[in-house]
Amino acid sequence: MKLYNLKDTKEEVNFSQAVKFGLGKNQGLFFPKKLPVFSKKKIKELLNKKFVSRSQKILSMLIGSEIKKKKIKNSVKSAFNFSKPKMINITNNIYCMELFHGPTLAFKDYGARFMAHILSCLNNKDNKSITILTATSGDTGAAVAHAFYKMKNIKVIILYPKGKISNVQKKLFCTLGKNITTISVNGSFDECQKLVKKAFHDQEIKENTQLNSANSINVSRLFAQICYFFEIFYLIPKDLKNKLVISIPCGNFGNLTAGLLAKSMGLPIKKFILATNSNNTVPRYLDTGIWNPYKTISTMSNAMDISRPNNWPRVEEIFHKKKWNIKDLKYGYVSEKKTEKNIKDLYQKYQYISEPHAAIAYTLLKNKLKSNEHGVFLGTAHPIKFQDTVEKILNIKLKEKNSISNIFHLKDLSYNIQPNFNKLKKILLNK
Ligand SMILES: *Cc1c(COP(=O)(O)O)cnc(C)c1O
Repeated sequence: MKLYNLKDTKEEVNFSQAVKFGLGKNQGLFFPKKLPVFSKKKIKELLNKKFVSRSQKILSMLIGSEIKKKKIKNSVKSAFNFSKPKMINITNNIYCMELFHGPTLAFKDYGARFMAHILSCLNNKDNKSITILTATSGDTGAAVAHAFYKMKNIKVIILYPKGKISNVQKKLFCTLGKNITTISVNGSFDECQKLVKKAFHDQEIKENTQLNSANSINVSRLFAQICYFFEIFYLIPKDLKNKLVISIPCGNFGNLTAGLLAKSMGLPIKKFILATNSNNTVPRYLDTGIWNPYKTISTMSNAMDISRPNNWPRVEEIFHKKKWNIKDLKYGYVSEKKTEKNIKDLYQKYQYISEPHAAIAYTLLKNKLKSNEHGVFLGTAHPIKFQDTVEKILNIKLKEKNSISNIFHLKDLSYNIQPNFNKLKKILLNK
């Protein structure tokens, strides 16, 4: 597969290079030159397959012949080796697609694990040591750390905003040690991301380490996420297939990008709703045509506390390339108060326990869904990851989750730094 740089369209790379480089010149995002399209018949065929074998087909088709089919197949199989997504019926016309049954209880397990396995495949060929440097608002860190944990020749360094991630998130990835280093930064997620971007452009760092960002800007992560949009159509009752509206809680807009890519490949998704919290740069942009990020504010849905979403240029490029109208994209943002109210509603009316991210997508879906449509909102994280918030709002005690019961006594091994580039540089260069 060939991809080009959105900021410098003359720069072209293949898939393996895009995975290794992460970003192109001028911090430009890579974008596929040709978006493959499946025929209706092929889509039908795909939808008859099970999740893993279907995903193997989709990713092989996307990536093409530059990586051996067998390697792609094995990577998908090892990456997606946990419980499949679940579709939960909430009301007569609303469903939740739960994507949080992986090892770190958020959808990010899909992308991070596929990336880890593909990268390890590519890396075995070169046999060089790689450093994964990434910023997280909580869930990426956990997913990436677990995906790369104990992998040969791969070192992982993760930055996160101190005090702004949940206890479960912290215990999941700041306690691993071995090839995983975690750094808490006295600042916001955007500041963490800035430090990371700077490191990628520092000459001395470039010369001494082979850096890779496992952020959702990496195409391997995005591509892996396309697979569960197909799974939605496998799980939903057949007669709803042409009436489906999908509501997505957006932070860095990776999920929305993956969903749009799935649609561009022929999956008949009727509409998307993009939902943000009060960090609403995109909803304001779609209202006014002016890109004007405000300072990031902390909310309950901390994985969406992002005011400069990295993937947005890709969303615009898809609309441009497919000649779709951006006005068909539904959007909105949800305040803390409304989020809280809808977490309560979901529980009291439908006995469904949700967390703030999914509840934001649910809120807009419920408000915007027409009577002839059916809606799916993405359940992006398990409620236990936001235990304190959910328990306080619902005034209940959440059931313990067996798979993580042994993490709570583990020690936080993080370094702490000011948002100061030289500190990070020292750690990266082992000085
Ligand atoms: C990362 C994350 C999001 C935002 O997803 P993007 O792909 O960055 O838009 C939403 N909810 C949860 C729980 C997340 O971890």
